[in-house]
Amino acid sequence: MNATQQYDAVVVGAGAGGAAAAWRMAMKRWRVLLVDAGPAFDPAHDYALDQPDWERRQFPHKPGSLGETSFAPMQSLDPALADLRSWSLGQGVTNHGTERTVSGPGYHHVRGIGGSTLHFVGESHRMNPASMQMHSRFGVGADWPVSYADLEPYYLEVERFLGVAGPDEPRDRWRSAPYPLPAHPLSRASRKLATGAAALGLDWDPNPRCALSRPYDGRPPCNYCGGCTLGCPRRDKASADITFVAKARASGHCDIRPNTTLVRIVRGARRRVDAVELLGEGGRQRVLTKRLVLAGGAIETPRMLLLEPGLLPTGSQVGRNFLESVAWTSVGRADEPLLSFGGLPADAISWKHNRPDAVPGVVGGFRVSAAIHESGMVGAIAHAQRAVPGFGIEHKQQLRQAVGSTVATGAVGESLPSARSWVDLDPQQRDALGRPLARIHSHVDLMTVRRLRAMAEVTRGLLKSSGIPTLVEEYGTYDYFSSAHVFGTCRMGTDPRKSVVDADLRVHGFDNLYVCDASVFPSSGGGEAPTLTIQALVLRAVDRMG
Ligand SMILES: Cc1cc2nc3c(=O)[nH]c(=O)nc-3n(C[C@H](O)[C@H](O)[C@H](O)COP(=O)(O)OP(=O)(O)OC[C@H]3O[C@@H](n4cnc5c(N)ncnc54)[C@H](O)[C@@H]3O)c2cc1C
Ligand code: SF4
Repeated sequence: MNATQQYDAVVVGAGAGGAAAAWRMAMKRWRVLLVDAGPAFDPAHDYALDQPDWERRQFPHKPGSLGETSFAPMQSLDPALADLRSWSLGQGVTNHGTERTVSGPGYHHVRGIGGSTLHFVGESHRMNPASMQMHSRFGVGADWPVSYADLEPYYLEVERFLGVAGPDEPRDRWRSAPYPLPAHPLSRASRKLATGAAALGLDWDPNPRCALSRPYDGRPPCNYCGGCTLGCPRRDKASADITFVAKARASGHCDIRPNTTLVRIVRGARRRVDAVELLGEGGRQRVLTKRLVLAGGAIETPRMLLLEPGLLPTGSQVGRNFLESVAWTSVGRADEPLLSFGGLPADAISWKHNRPDAVPGVVGGFRVSAAIHESGMVGAIAHAQRAVPGFGIEHKQQLRQAVGSTVATGAVGESLPSARSWVDLDPQQRDALGRPLARIHSHVDLMTVRRLRAMAEVTRGLLKSSGIPTLVEEYGTYDYFSSAHVFGTCRMGTDPRKSVVDADLRVHGFDNLYVCDASVFPSSGGGEAPTLTIQALVLRAVDRMG
């Protein structure tokens, strides 16, 4: 093993949470080591939006940027719920099996400096305060041990740091100051959807986005190319690599090591961690640290803790309470060109159904937004495979008409904890180092089915009332595991029997071990995107670290 180094803090995982933690620590002039199992990306060279084959490349994965996970057997599908099965004009029913399944790469979060923010859309939402009190107000799940008021100054700080562009109307989330940047103008497709929203009495606000609507902090404004999930080459989308990590590096107090994996947590006397063992480009190394922050995301952080025998007591909640956001998307085709391949993804949103009690008979709400780019139905290849069946000259003509007139509406909803959804270590499947993979157990319960039905009703109704009568594709969580937002596996709380970390994100029973990522969420929210909340929580936690 290589020589030992010593740091004030080691942060494992350079995604949304870890990057924010490292930056805050570097600003305090602590000596910080930030490591990530994945590679570094260079927006100027790695993202292929200006290449003719951009659609085939998708997000450009590099060696080490795709993690490995496994799945426990999925639940059987009920023939009575055929209306919630995913389908497309091009392929018919897309899950031909009798069980729920995993689409494409499964848990498809990027590993790398910037983590999943490299390919995230960039929606920047505060939690609805009511969604943070699911147990005391609605009798399900768990309450947050921090309040919206505790987080509000940190929300504002992160919004200013990233350059979030948002509307004047705060809805349920009170604000102590306006957004730092004005909201983006709605695209032509979203203006078309606005007509349907108005007819249905839905609010249709500009969506708060960490993409710049004006030059800000040395970065240029968005050019509305629509490619956020493929990696933003302009650096205006505030992914963690070009914001928190870049500024932590510039401080001179933070060493950053890509392609470096945590392989061991070394426990010290009493309530302390003393060191970590890392495997990186220079081999295996032991690093002494005064504080250890785990920020591997809601699947890998519980794995890191579970891989250390005896670190946490038997019966610990690590891995329990796994939450995956519930999603439904309806894709339709308008009879007119809308240039829908361009514009800012998810530029408009309705919060009308978002409060936990907004939908009669359903606990847990959902939001509805424009979702054309997230659906991936943007370029000719996707249309040919999924939306425009056929061959030959007529097919080509239809494709020319279809590309640019396709519009999608997506709903994302609350995920409630279930005894049948959790993460553990796979007893059989192992990674290249011979360590068990994280295994995901995912279950859709009856309340989720009810919520999904309400979500589908609204997304279909919104397309129809917008004058888009032809559906070309629908898909959702009922028959596919949906992993964009995952949370809960190291839940935050006051009772060590029911949670893993306290309100300051410190692991119960330890003085210097922290979890700073999405795994600490006690509830998912009714469709709020989590990253802004992760980063607000993390800045607050670092300010309270001893
Ligand atoms: C397609 C997509 C779109 C999304 N859009 C949005 C959006 O618009 N707005 C929003 O708020 N959220 C969005 N999200 C979700 C958001 O990206 C995540 O919630 C957020 O990035 C989670 O942050 P995290 O810190 O928990 O983990 P991550 O950002 O995933 O970072 C975890 C990091 O830890 C590293 N790591 C893991 N294990 C180890 C180890 N043993 N050693 C070293 N490093 C390790 C990983 O390589 C990774 O880089 C989206 C997600 C997806 C997939
Ligand atoms: S739409 Fe804007 S934020 Fe998204 S990739 Fe294009 S330039 Fe970047």
